[in-house]
Amino acid sequence: MTTSTPFDPVLFDQDDPARRGEAHGEMWRAEIRELAEIRAALALKKGSFKDRGQLDAIARLHLPLLDNFSAPLAAELRGIARGAAVAPEAVVVLNHYTDLRDVPPSVLEGPCPEDPVVSDTFHDLNTADDPGGCTAVYLPGQGAPVLGQTWDMHGTAEPYVRAIRIKPRGGDDEVVCFTLTGCLGMTGVSARGVAVTINNLSSTDGQVGVVWPALVRAMLACAGAREARDLLLRTRLSSGHHYMIADGREFFGVETSGQLKVVTQHGARAAHLHTNHCFDPVLRRHEAVPKASTSFRRMELATTLYVQQRPQDARALWTMLSSHEGYPRSVCSHIDDAGGDPSASRTCGRMIVDLTRGEVLVGRGCGQVEPPTVVKLDRWRGGHVP
Ligand SMILES: [Zn+2]
Repeated sequence: MTTSTPFDPVLFDQDDPARRGEAHGEMWRAEIRELAEIRAALALKKGSFKDRGQLDAIARLHLPLLDNFSAPLAAELRGIARGAAVAPEAVVVLNHYTDLRDVPPSVLEGPCPEDPVVSDTFHDLNTADDPGGCTAVYLPGQGAPVLGQTWDMHGTAEPYVRAIRIKPRGGDDEVVCFTLTGCLGMTGVSARGVAVTINNLSSTDGQVGVVWPALVRAMLACAGAREARDLLLRTRLSSGHHYMIADGREFFGVETSGQLKVVTQHGARAAHLHTNHCFDPVLRRHEAVPKASTSFRRMELATTLYVQQRPQDARALWTMLSSHEGYPRSVCSHIDDAGGDPSASRTCGRMIVDLTRGEVLVGRGCGQVEPPTVVKLDRWRGGHVP
């Protein structure tokens, strides 16, 4: 294992969020433009939008909410757009794609995006294919908690997967995120020891909300897991996710739909697993798990693997989350290999955080082929043992 593989995180050390965004946009201009087009095309194919103009208009509705939610993160996202020479709404589509798919076009008719929108029938998710999954696991270890996940999404996204390290020259902040070119961050950990993972959930009560990677970054900027949970609970969302939040002392699992949020898991001394369907009975009434989803199967596989392997540390969890048991519909998912559709969901990477030592294992693609890159947080000051 080496720390000099091509998947080392790219450093952004700008103090000014707008400059940081511009640097990000300039560095990956071509990739951002390609991925924004790929995701816009997928949203049009799989969502209920009339045309690109309507999709862009709905994406634009998310910008004022982002400005109100976090001026620095809004500045960073707009900086990415400037750097990549694309419209800000294109970067919203790129970041918020899985949620946008669940936002009904009727939001354009309302006078104000703050009005709640309830639409249970705007499109039939059961005919849609898998919007992407993710298998997330928290394990208490032997006094050494670990949080990690696979990132399963349209296979055409894999070339755009990156790790980034945001470490402003001034101050003592630092976050390491697994992300895509043009995206603020999808899962990550901060120097204060707060880590967040994500599972997508398909909701029937989508609405205009905070661009979710901005929420992840804001949660990672919190002082602890409890504060991050509270931020999540008071933030207006677009669609469903399950968030795992841990800081070494505390653990919370929060399921959401577009409009509801429920803390479904807590307790840092137990192991927790989640895939892409709700555990909460009320939330289940606001979700539509696509027929093609491997969520229930991966939950079963992950539960069995957990019992068999009893992983105690980050490397053991890496092995578990790279499992080909049941291939191709395995935890390290390869379902596109069978069907031949390059946009079908598969595991595009994984990230695992050792919450005691501030060490991250991160990699792109299949865990059986690609070894993890080991990343240390330079300013680590977490590491509280529960
Ligand atoms: Zn694999």
